Amino acid sequence: MATRYDAVIVGAGHNGLVTAGYLSRAGLKVLVLERRYVVGGACVTEEIFPGFKVSTAAYLCSLLHPKVVSDLELPRFGYHIFPKDPASFTPLPDGRYFFLWQDSQRNLAEIAKFSERDAGLFSAYEDFLSRLAAVAEQTFTMTPPNPLPRSLQDWGTYLRLIPSLLRLGRKDLLAGMKMMFQSVRDFLDERFESDVLKATLATDGVIGINGGPSTPGTAYVLLHHCMGEVGGKRGLWGFVEGGMGGVADALRRSSEAYGSITRTSAPVARIRIRDGRALGVVLENGEEIDAAIVVSNADPKQTFLRLIEPPALPEDFRRGIDHIRMEGCSLKVNLALSELPNFKAYPGNGPGPQHKGTIHICPSLDYMERAWDDTRQGIPSREPMLECCIPTTYDPSLAPPGKHLMSIFVQYAPYKLANASWDEIRDAYADRVIDILSDYAPNIKGAILDRQVLTPLDLEREFGLTHGNIFHGELSLDQLFFLRPLPGWAQYRTPIRNLYLCGSGTHPGGGVTGVPGHNAAREILRDWRKLK
Ligand SMILES: Cc1cc2nc3c(=O)[nH]c(=O)nc-3n(C[C@H](O)[C@H](O)[C@H](O)COP(=O)(O)OP(=O)(O)OC[C@H]3O[C@@H](n4cnc5c(N)ncnc54)[C@H](O)[C@@H]3O)c2cc1C
Repeated sequence: MATRYDAVIVGAGHNGLVTAGYLSRAGLKVLVLERRYVVGGACVTEEIFPGFKVSTAAYLCSLLHPKVVSDLELPRFGYHIFPKDPASFTPLPDGRYFFLWQDSQRNLAEIAKFSERDAGLFSAYEDFLSRLAAVAEQTFTMTPPNPLPRSLQDWGTYLRLIPSLLRLGRKDLLAGMKMMFQSVRDFLDERFESDVLKATLATDGVIGINGGPSTPGTAYVLLHHCMGEVGGKRGLWGFVEGGMGGVADALRRSSEAYGSITRTSAPVARIRIRDGRALGVVLENGEEIDAAIVVSNADPKQTFLRLIEPPALPEDFRRGIDHIRMEGCSLKVNLALSELPNFKAYPGNGPGPQHKGTIHICPSLDYMERAWDDTRQGIPSREPMLECCIPTTYDPSLAPPGKHLMSIFVQYAPYKLANASWDEIRDAYADRVIDILSDYAPNIKGAILDRQVLTPLDLEREFGLTHGNIFHGELSLDQLFFLRPLPGWAQYRTPIRNLYLCGSGTHPGGGVTGVPGHNAAREILRDWRKLK
């Protein structure tokens, strides 16, 4: 007789693996089914060039929640992170450059090169964000209450929020509320005058977002990127040893140590439903698997519009899912290099600080604004913002001796193009990206040994991300907290009994956080204990 599982998880993205880790620790018999040949979803390492271990999609880690790291004993299963310092390097077309470091005193001296006034204000800015992030972060591991409380649990969540909000104090609270609605441009213009400082900081407000620096709500996205930490230091980002797959592999080992089974190359075709209750799944090869509960790590559109027959869902729910804004606008280029880029603004191709931070090719907010304006006409930015990283300067084991990897995260690349298809323009556009980078580091073209280009269409095809959206749905105010994925359905449950969501399309959203998977597991176990 076929095995019956307590829980089948559709997708071994890092959140699916987090849920598997918690459920298997609670004693459930868990099966994880992944459509790709490898686990991790967008948090993965792949040998796409012989001898190079590439973080093909996500490339930096900070947001992975410390509770998840410790509950699931990730260091014991091989997870290690190298803190990034400097945080960033921004070369400018006029030959100047700008660093941000982990050391506050060094930052003040660096900012003062461009504005004494801004240097004087920077510590207060960092402290404000830190206080706000500490409160916002508390909401991360909460199950969002219903907007209109329906249960004691809802009231309890609201009550738990009050002391932290009060602790913020009136001034921070008001500035924080304003920030939630502001554009990142307005937020930074209110505080600083230096263009390079504002452009460097603003990147976090628009990365992965279908909006420009003047789009309301982008200031919150900046805050979202400050929620994390590395080694206990807030806001610090780092490179995972072995690439981002180091997170997924540790999660897989952690759940398998408690009996969870992971199957790769096992695409789910359909979630089986009878009388409004999930019964299991059917794989694309026709194999049927029974389970008491089904958990989907796929994004909400994949889950409800592809894996479930329309009559099984209430019409208004289906329509709501169909209208979640989920447009991709980012493109990734992964390069294998024979040597490091030699920047005109900071010469040298032995490993130096210019190679160790996130390299921002985006000299001003106006540059960013123009990049976004192109996208609104349905064309990829003629002068895109580039965010580049060289993980081999921390972890040489990722490449053959003396060779390097460089990731280039490119914005904006709209999923829907006005007059072309991505299959037609993929290579020409990647050439354009390299041309722009070579204006700053002229040796780059000659150093390229191999390259991979992932357009939003490729992100959809390869990683199953609807329209190439890297966060399973935009991180806009109308799609966050108790509105994610839909108002009234933010508690990881769905209109189908025993079917749950655990991916980034749920609160608190995208990024390698593990938090949707953690919160979903808590709600699943709450229901499971009632069932037993
Ligand atoms: C190019 C790119 C760069 C990024 N950079 C960063 C970064 O540097 N730092 C950061 O924190 N975040 C980054 N992100 C965002 C982050 O990687 C994602 O938000 C996060 O990894 C999503 O995790 P998840 O587990 O929720 O979903 P996913 O990783 O999307 O996992 C879902 C899984 O479900 C599987 N699946 C889907 N349908 C089926 C099916 N029918 N049957 C079986 N399996 C199925 C998919 O194959 C996938 O493995 C980036 C994302 C991308 C794409």
